[in-house]
Amino acid sequence: MSHLMNTYSRQPVTFTHGEGVWLWDKEGNKYLDALAGVAVNGLGHAHPKLVNAISQQVAKMIHVSNIYGIAEQEKLADKLAEISGMDKVFFCNSGCEANEAAIKLARLYGHNKGIETPETIVMERAFHGRTMATLSATGNRKAQAGFEPLVSGFIRVPYDDLEAVKQIASRKNNVVAILVEPVQGEGGVYIPADMAAYLQGLRKVCDDNGWLMMLDEVQSGIGRTGTWFAFQHTGMTPDVMTLAKGLGSGVPIGACVAKGAAADIFTPGKHGSTFGGNPLATTAGLTTLHAIQDEKLRENAQKMGDLICDGLRSALKGVAGVMVIRNAGLMIGIELDRPCADLVKMALETKLLINVTAEKVVRLLPPLVINEAEANELAARLSVLIKQFLSQ
Ligand SMILES: *Cc1c(COP(=O)(O)O)cnc(C)c1O
Repeated sequence: MSHLMNTYSRQPVTFTHGEGVWLWDKEGNKYLDALAGVAVNGLGHAHPKLVNAISQQVAKMIHVSNIYGIAEQEKLADKLAEISGMDKVFFCNSGCEANEAAIKLARLYGHNKGIETPETIVMERAFHGRTMATLSATGNRKAQAGFEPLVSGFIRVPYDDLEAVKQIASRKNNVVAILVEPVQGEGGVYIPADMAAYLQGLRKVCDDNGWLMMLDEVQSGIGRTGTWFAFQHTGMTPDVMTLAKGLGSGVPIGACVAKGAAADIFTPGKHGSTFGGNPLATTAGLTTLHAIQDEKLRENAQKMGDLICDGLRSALKGVAGVMVIRNAGLMIGIELDRPCADLVKMALETKLLINVTAEKVVRLLPPLVINEAEANELAARLSVLIKQFLSQ
Protein backbone atom coordinates (compact mmCIF):
# COMPACT_ATOMS: atom_id res chain seq x y z
CA MET A 1 0.00 0.00 0.00
CA SER A 2 1.28 3.44 -0.87
CA HIS A 3 1.51 5.96 1.93
CA LEU A 4 0.93 8.82 -0.50
CA MET A 5 -2.40 10.62 -0.43
CA ASN A 6 -4.50 9.88 -3.45
CA THR A 7 -4.31 13.32 -5.08
CA TYR A 8 -2.99 12.34 -8.53
CA SER A 9 -3.92 9.74 -11.11
CA ARG A 10 -0.33 8.93 -11.94
CA GLN A 11 1.06 7.31 -15.06
CA PRO A 12 2.76 3.96 -14.39
CA VAL A 13 6.35 5.12 -14.82
CA THR A 14 9.13 6.43 -12.57
CA PHE A 15 12.09 8.34 -13.96
CA THR A 16 15.63 8.30 -12.68
CA HIS A 17 17.39 11.04 -14.63
CA GLY A 18 17.26 13.26 -17.67
CA GLU A 19 19.26 15.28 -20.15
CA GLY A 20 17.84 18.05 -22.33
CA VAL A 21 14.43 16.97 -23.65
CA TRP A 22 15.05 13.31 -22.70
CA LEU A 23 14.17 11.32 -19.58
CA TRP A 24 15.12 7.76 -18.60
CA ASP A 25 13.10 5.34 -16.45
CA LYS A 26 14.29 2.67 -14.02
CA GLU A 27 14.43 0.08 -16.80
CA GLY A 28 16.64 2.31 -18.95
CA ASN A 29 13.93 3.29 -21.45
CA LYS A 30 14.37 6.72 -23.04
CA TYR A 31 11.43 9.15 -23.31
CA LEU A 32 10.91 12.35 -25.31
CA ASP A 33 9.62 14.85 -22.73
CA ALA A 34 7.10 17.16 -24.41
CA LEU A 35 5.60 18.28 -21.09
CA ALA A 36 8.69 19.52 -19.21
CA GLY A 37 7.14 18.98 -15.78
CA VAL A 38 4.18 21.12 -16.95
CA ALA A 39 6.15 24.08 -18.33
CA VAL A 40 8.72 23.98 -15.54
CA ASN A 41 11.88 22.54 -17.09
CA GLY A 42 12.42 25.22 -19.72
CA LEU A 43 16.15 24.52 -19.75
CA GLY A 44 15.45 20.82 -20.13
CA HIS A 45 16.87 18.33 -17.66
CA ALA A 46 20.33 18.59 -16.08
CA HIS A 47 21.30 21.82 -17.82
CA PRO A 48 25.04 22.16 -17.01
CA LYS A 49 24.89 25.88 -16.15
CA LEU A 50 21.98 25.34 -13.76
CA VAL A 51 23.53 22.24 -12.19
CA ASN A 52 26.75 24.13 -11.63
CA ALA A 53 25.18 27.31 -10.25
CA ILE A 54 22.84 25.64 -7.79
CA SER A 55 25.48 23.13 -6.66
CA GLN A 56 27.78 26.02 -5.81
CA GLN A 57 24.98 27.84 -4.02
CA VAL A 58 24.02 24.75 -1.99
CA ALA A 59 27.62 24.47 -0.81
CA LYS A 60 27.55 28.11 0.34
CA MET A 61 24.07 28.57 1.83
CA ILE A 62 20.61 27.24 0.96
CA HIS A 63 18.40 29.40 3.10
CA VAL A 64 18.37 32.40 5.39
CA SER A 65 15.29 34.22 6.58
CA ASN A 66 13.77 37.23 4.87
CA ILE A 67 14.56 38.94 8.17
CA TYR A 68 17.98 39.49 6.54
CA GLY A 69 19.21 40.86 3.24
CA ILE A 70 19.52 38.25 0.46
CA ALA A 71 21.86 39.29 -2.33
CA GLU A 72 20.68 36.63 -4.82
CA GLN A 73 17.06 37.71 -4.30
CA GLU A 74 17.90 41.34 -5.00
CA LYS A 75 19.75 40.36 -8.18
CA LEU A 76 16.83 38.30 -9.45
CA ALA A 77 14.41 41.15 -8.68
CA ASP A 78 16.68 43.53 -10.64
CA LYS A 79 16.74 41.14 -13.58
CA LEU A 80 12.96 40.61 -13.54
CA ALA A 81 12.43 44.37 -13.42
CA GLU A 82 14.84 44.85 -16.34
CA ILE A 83 13.23 42.28 -18.62
CA SER A 84 9.60 43.13 -17.72
CA GLY A 85 9.79 46.93 -17.51
CA MET A 86 8.12 46.61 -14.10
CA ASP A 87 9.29 47.84 -10.71
CA LYS A 88 9.16 45.52 -7.72
CA VAL A 89 8.97 41.83 -6.88
CA PHE A 90 7.66 39.70 -4.01
CA PHE A 91 9.04 36.15 -3.99
CA CYS A 92 7.16 33.05 -2.91
CA ASN A 93 7.33 29.35 -3.81
CA SER A 94 4.65 28.51 -6.35
CA GLY A 95 2.11 29.80 -8.81
CA CYS A 96 -0.84 29.74 -6.44
CA GLU A 97 1.17 31.67 -3.87
CA ALA A 98 2.10 34.26 -6.48
CA ASN A 99 -1.60 34.64 -7.27
CA GLU A 100 -2.49 34.78 -3.57
CA ALA A 101 -0.07 37.68 -3.26
CA ALA A 102 -1.70 39.41 -6.25
CA ILE A 103 -5.22 38.87 -4.88
CA LYS A 104 -4.21 40.22 -1.46
CA LEU A 105 -2.44 43.15 -3.08
CA ALA A 106 -5.60 44.03 -5.03
CA ARG A 107 -7.77 43.84 -1.90
CA LEU A 108 -5.38 46.04 0.04
CA TYR A 109 -5.31 48.47 -2.87
CA GLY A 110 -9.12 48.63 -2.62
CA HIS A 111 -9.21 49.03 1.14
CA ASN A 112 -6.63 51.82 0.89
CA LYS A 113 -9.12 53.58 -1.42
CA GLY A 114 -11.97 53.05 1.06
CA ILE A 115 -13.58 50.11 -0.79
CA GLU A 116 -14.70 47.72 1.95
CA THR A 117 -15.81 44.76 -0.19
CA PRO A 118 -13.33 44.81 -3.07
CA GLU A 119 -14.02 42.44 -5.97
CA THR A 120 -11.68 41.08 -8.65
CA ILE A 121 -12.85 40.13 -12.13
CA VAL A 122 -11.78 36.62 -13.22
CA MET A 123 -12.47 34.53 -16.30
CA GLU A 124 -14.39 31.44 -17.25
CA ARG A 125 -12.07 28.43 -17.76
CA ALA A 126 -9.32 30.24 -15.80
CA PHE A 127 -6.79 28.33 -13.71
CA HIS A 128 -5.03 30.16 -10.89
CA GLY A 129 -4.18 27.40 -8.41
CA ARG A 130 -5.48 25.14 -5.65
CA THR A 131 -5.37 27.25 -2.48
CA MET A 132 -8.74 28.51 -1.31
CA ALA A 133 -8.52 31.98 -2.85
CA THR A 134 -6.93 30.84 -6.11
CA LEU A 135 -9.35 27.89 -6.36
CA SER A 136 -12.18 30.39 -5.96
CA ALA A 137 -10.66 32.50 -8.75
CA THR A 138 -10.33 29.39 -10.94
CA GLY A 139 -13.15 28.85 -13.43
CA ASN A 140 -13.52 25.09 -13.12
CA ARG A 141 -16.49 23.81 -11.14
CA LYS A 142 -15.06 20.28 -10.94
CA ALA A 143 -11.96 21.56 -9.18
CA GLN A 144 -14.06 23.62 -6.76
CA ALA A 145 -16.69 20.99 -5.93
CA GLY A 146 -16.52 19.81 -2.35
CA PHE A 147 -14.50 22.76 -1.10
CA GLU A 148 -17.31 25.23 -0.55
CA PRO A 149 -17.64 27.75 0.97
CA LEU A 150 -15.40 29.38 -1.62
CA VAL A 151 -13.68 32.70 -1.00
CA SER A 152 -15.95 35.56 -2.05
CA GLY A 153 -14.89 38.69 -3.89
CA PHE A 154 -14.63 37.35 -7.45
CA ILE A 155 -16.83 38.19 -10.43
CA ARG A 156 -16.61 35.84 -13.40
CA VAL A 157 -16.91 36.82 -17.06
CA PRO A 158 -16.27 34.94 -20.32
CA TYR A 159 -12.65 34.91 -21.56
CA ASP A 160 -11.75 37.07 -24.55
CA ASP A 161 -14.93 39.12 -24.10
CA LEU A 162 -14.09 42.79 -23.58
CA GLU A 163 -17.74 43.84 -23.64
CA ALA A 164 -18.55 41.68 -20.61
CA VAL A 165 -15.88 43.51 -18.62
CA LYS A 166 -17.09 46.92 -19.79
CA GLN A 167 -20.60 46.06 -18.63
CA ILE A 168 -19.34 45.31 -15.13
CA ALA A 169 -17.50 48.62 -15.14
CA SER A 170 -20.77 50.39 -15.91
CA ARG A 171 -22.74 48.81 -13.06
CA LYS A 172 -20.31 48.15 -10.19
CA ASN A 173 -18.19 50.49 -8.12
CA ASN A 174 -16.35 48.04 -5.86
CA VAL A 175 -14.20 46.35 -8.49
CA VAL A 176 -10.47 46.74 -7.83
CA ALA A 177 -8.74 44.49 -10.36
CA ILE A 178 -8.87 42.08 -13.28
CA LEU A 179 -6.93 38.81 -13.04
CA VAL A 180 -6.47 37.06 -16.39
CA GLU A 181 -4.14 34.63 -18.17
CA PRO A 182 -2.80 36.04 -21.48
CA VAL A 183 -3.06 32.46 -22.77
CA GLN A 184 -5.23 29.99 -20.83
CA GLY A 185 -3.10 26.91 -20.20
CA GLU A 186 -5.00 24.40 -18.03
CA GLY A 187 -8.27 25.64 -19.50
CA GLY A 188 -7.30 24.22 -22.92
CA VAL A 189 -4.54 26.41 -24.44
CA TYR A 190 -6.91 29.18 -25.45
CA ILE A 191 -5.32 32.22 -27.06
CA PRO A 192 -7.42 35.40 -27.41
CA ALA A 193 -8.44 35.89 -31.06
CA ASP A 194 -6.50 39.19 -31.02
CA MET A 195 -4.36 39.08 -27.90
CA ALA A 196 -3.04 42.62 -28.33
CA ALA A 197 -6.50 44.13 -28.81
CA TYR A 198 -7.96 42.16 -25.89
CA LEU A 199 -5.22 42.99 -23.38
CA GLN A 200 -5.01 46.62 -24.53
CA GLY A 201 -8.78 46.83 -24.20
CA LEU A 202 -8.65 45.43 -20.66
CA ARG A 203 -5.78 47.80 -19.88
CA LYS A 204 -7.92 50.75 -20.95
CA VAL A 205 -10.92 49.65 -18.86
CA CYS A 206 -8.56 49.32 -15.89
CA ASP A 207 -7.10 52.77 -16.47
CA ASP A 208 -10.52 54.37 -16.93
CA ASN A 209 -11.83 52.85 -13.70
CA GLY A 210 -8.78 52.82 -11.43
CA TRP A 211 -8.52 49.00 -11.44
CA LEU A 212 -5.32 46.98 -11.36
CA MET A 213 -4.58 44.96 -14.49
CA MET A 214 -3.16 41.67 -13.22
CA LEU A 215 -1.79 38.97 -15.51
CA ASP A 216 -1.27 35.37 -14.46
CA GLU A 217 1.85 34.45 -16.46
CA VAL A 218 2.65 31.43 -14.32
CA GLN A 219 2.50 29.19 -17.41
CA SER A 220 2.94 31.69 -20.28
CA GLY A 221 5.92 33.54 -18.79
CA ILE A 222 9.70 32.95 -18.83
CA GLY A 223 10.18 32.67 -22.57
CA ARG A 224 7.55 30.07 -23.35
CA THR A 225 5.55 32.09 -25.89
CA GLY A 226 8.60 33.53 -27.65
CA THR A 227 8.95 36.65 -25.49
CA TRP A 228 9.97 36.85 -21.83
CA PHE A 229 6.30 37.35 -20.96
CA ALA A 230 3.23 36.90 -23.15
CA PHE A 231 2.14 40.51 -22.53
CA GLN A 232 5.20 41.60 -24.52
CA HIS A 233 3.36 40.53 -27.68
CA THR A 234 0.75 43.21 -26.99
CA GLY A 235 2.31 46.64 -26.47
CA MET A 236 0.79 47.02 -22.99
CA THR A 237 2.24 46.44 -19.52
CA PRO A 238 0.18 45.13 -16.60
CA ASP A 239 0.20 46.58 -13.08
CA VAL A 240 0.78 43.14 -11.60
CA MET A 241 2.13 39.91 -13.09
CA THR A 242 2.52 36.52 -11.44
CA LEU A 243 5.22 33.98 -12.29
CA ALA A 244 6.32 30.54 -11.15
CA LYS A 245 6.62 27.33 -13.22
CA GLY A 246 9.56 28.03 -15.56
CA LEU A 247 11.24 30.59 -13.31
CA GLY A 248 13.35 28.20 -11.23
CA SER A 249 13.71 25.33 -13.72
CA GLY A 250 12.34 22.95 -11.07
CA VAL A 251 13.59 24.62 -7.91
CA PRO A 252 10.32 25.90 -6.41
CA ILE A 253 9.90 29.65 -6.77
CA GLY A 254 7.07 32.05 -7.51
CA ALA A 255 7.00 35.79 -7.97
CA CYS A 256 4.46 38.59 -7.86
CA VAL A 257 5.81 41.48 -9.94
CA ALA A 258 4.27 44.96 -9.80
CA LYS A 259 4.60 48.32 -11.48
CA GLY A 260 3.85 51.89 -10.50
CA ALA A 261 1.46 52.46 -7.59
CA ALA A 262 0.85 48.69 -7.29
CA ALA A 263 4.53 48.17 -6.45
CA ASP A 264 4.25 50.06 -3.15
CA ILE A 265 1.02 48.69 -1.72
CA PHE A 266 2.52 46.05 0.58
CA THR A 267 4.23 47.32 3.71
CA PRO A 268 5.97 45.27 6.44
CA GLY A 269 3.60 42.85 8.15
CA LYS A 270 1.08 42.70 5.28
CA HIS A 271 2.53 39.68 3.49
CA GLY A 272 5.46 37.28 3.69
CA SER A 273 6.86 33.80 3.20
CA THR A 274 9.36 31.68 5.14
CA PHE A 275 11.04 30.12 2.12
CA GLY A 276 10.14 32.72 -0.52
CA GLY A 277 13.14 34.01 -2.45
CA ASN A 278 15.76 32.03 -0.57
CA PRO A 279 19.33 31.97 -1.93
CA LEU A 280 18.93 28.54 -3.61
CA ALA A 281 15.65 29.35 -5.39
CA THR A 282 16.71 32.81 -6.53
CA THR A 283 20.05 31.48 -7.81
CA ALA A 284 18.06 28.97 -9.86
CA GLY A 285 15.86 31.82 -11.14
CA LEU A 286 18.73 34.09 -12.06
CA THR A 287 20.63 31.27 -13.79
CA THR A 288 17.49 30.30 -15.70
CA LEU A 289 16.97 33.85 -17.00
CA HIS A 290 20.63 34.21 -18.00
CA ALA A 291 20.59 30.87 -19.83
CA ILE A 292 17.40 31.81 -21.70
CA GLN A 293 19.02 35.07 -22.75
CA ASP A 294 22.48 33.71 -23.62
CA GLU A 295 21.15 30.71 -25.54
CA LYS A 296 18.45 32.71 -27.37
CA LEU A 297 15.75 30.38 -26.07
CA ARG A 298 12.89 32.84 -26.57
CA GLU A 299 13.64 32.95 -30.27
CA ASN A 300 13.97 29.17 -30.21
CA ALA A 301 10.60 28.76 -28.46
CA GLN A 302 8.88 30.74 -31.19
CA LYS A 303 10.62 28.89 -34.02
CA MET A 304 10.27 25.41 -32.60
CA GLY A 305 6.66 25.99 -31.57
CA ASP A 306 5.79 27.02 -35.12
CA LEU A 307 7.82 24.14 -36.57
CA ILE A 308 6.02 21.58 -34.40
CA CYS A 309 2.63 23.02 -35.36
CA ASP A 310 3.51 23.11 -39.07
CA GLY A 311 4.57 19.47 -38.81
CA LEU A 312 1.37 18.49 -37.02
CA ARG A 313 -0.81 20.46 -39.45
CA SER A 314 0.65 18.87 -42.54
CA ALA A 315 0.61 15.35 -41.05
CA LEU A 316 -2.95 15.73 -39.73
CA LYS A 317 -4.39 17.59 -42.71
CA GLY A 318 -7.88 16.36 -43.51
CA VAL A 319 -7.94 13.97 -40.54
CA ALA A 320 -11.49 13.97 -39.21
CA GLY A 321 -11.53 14.52 -35.46
CA VAL A 322 -8.75 17.10 -35.35
CA MET A 323 -10.58 20.36 -34.69
CA VAL A 324 -7.80 22.93 -34.43
CA ILE A 325 -4.09 23.22 -33.69
CA ARG A 326 -3.08 26.41 -31.89
CA ASN A 327 0.09 27.71 -30.27
CA ALA A 328 1.79 30.65 -28.69
CA GLY A 329 5.44 29.64 -29.05
CA LEU A 330 5.90 26.40 -27.15
CA MET A 331 2.43 26.47 -25.56
CA ILE A 332 0.71 24.13 -27.99
CA GLY A 333 -2.83 22.78 -27.99
CA ILE A 334 -4.32 20.22 -30.39
CA GLU A 335 -8.07 20.17 -29.91
CA LEU A 336 -9.85 16.95 -30.86
CA ASP A 337 -13.58 16.34 -31.25
CA ARG A 338 -13.67 13.84 -28.36
CA PRO A 339 -12.22 13.22 -24.89
CA CYS A 340 -8.68 11.94 -25.39
CA ALA A 341 -7.17 11.16 -21.97
CA ASP A 342 -6.28 7.71 -23.35
CA LEU A 343 -3.81 9.34 -25.72
CA VAL A 344 -1.53 10.08 -22.76
CA LYS A 345 -1.21 6.36 -22.01
CA MET A 346 -0.79 5.45 -25.69
CA ALA A 347 1.97 8.04 -25.99
CA LEU A 348 3.66 6.78 -22.85
CA GLU A 349 3.77 3.29 -24.33
CA THR A 350 5.70 4.72 -27.28
CA LYS A 351 7.99 6.63 -24.84
CA LEU A 352 6.52 10.05 -25.53
CA LEU A 353 5.39 12.31 -22.66
CA ILE A 354 2.39 14.52 -23.41
CA ASN A 355 -0.60 15.81 -21.50
CA VAL A 356 -4.31 16.28 -22.08
CA THR A 357 -6.19 19.19 -20.54
CA ALA A 358 -9.83 20.28 -20.68
CA GLU A 359 -10.67 16.69 -21.72
CA LYS A 360 -10.22 17.17 -25.46
CA VAL A 361 -7.03 19.20 -25.84
CA VAL A 362 -3.64 17.53 -26.27
CA ARG A 363 -1.19 19.91 -24.66
CA LEU A 364 2.51 20.17 -25.43
CA LEU A 365 4.87 22.26 -23.30
CA PRO A 366 8.32 21.02 -24.37
CA PRO A 367 11.55 22.40 -22.90
CA LEU A 368 12.60 25.70 -24.52
CA VAL A 369 15.89 24.00 -25.47
CA ILE A 370 14.20 21.59 -27.91
CA ASN A 371 16.11 21.53 -31.22
CA GLU A 372 14.89 21.14 -34.80
CA ALA A 373 15.46 17.38 -35.03
CA GLU A 374 13.66 16.82 -31.73
CA ALA A 375 10.80 19.11 -32.75
CA ASN A 376 10.35 17.22 -36.02
CA GLU A 377 10.50 13.91 -34.19
CA LEU A 378 7.85 15.11 -31.73
CA ALA A 379 5.46 16.21 -34.49
CA ALA A 380 6.00 12.97 -36.43
CA ARG A 381 5.55 10.64 -33.48
CA LEU A 382 2.54 12.51 -32.09
CA SER A 383 0.68 12.77 -35.38
CA VAL A 384 0.94 8.98 -35.86
CA LEU A 385 -0.52 8.50 -32.38
CA ILE A 386 -3.36 10.96 -32.93
CA LYS A 387 -4.32 9.26 -36.21
CA GLN A 388 -4.21 5.87 -34.50
CA PHE A 389 -6.34 7.14 -31.61
CA LEU A 390 -8.93 8.73 -33.88
CA SER A 391 -9.26 5.63 -36.06
CA GLN A 392 -10.03 3.33 -33.09
C1 LIG B 1 0.15 26.01 -12.80
C2 LIG B 1 -0.56 27.29 -12.74
C3 LIG B 1 -0.86 27.90 -11.51
C4 LIG B 1 -0.62 27.23 -10.18
O1 LIG B 1 0.73 27.04 -9.94
P1 LIG B 1 1.19 26.09 -8.72
O2 LIG B 1 2.69 26.27 -8.70
O3 LIG B 1 0.77 24.70 -9.05
O4 LIG B 1 0.55 26.60 -7.49
C5 LIG B 1 -1.47 29.13 -11.54
N1 LIG B 1 -1.75 29.75 -12.69
C6 LIG B 1 -1.47 29.20 -13.89
C7 LIG B 1 -1.80 29.95 -15.15
C8 LIG B 1 -0.88 27.95 -13.96
O5 LIG B 1 -0.63 27.39 -15.15
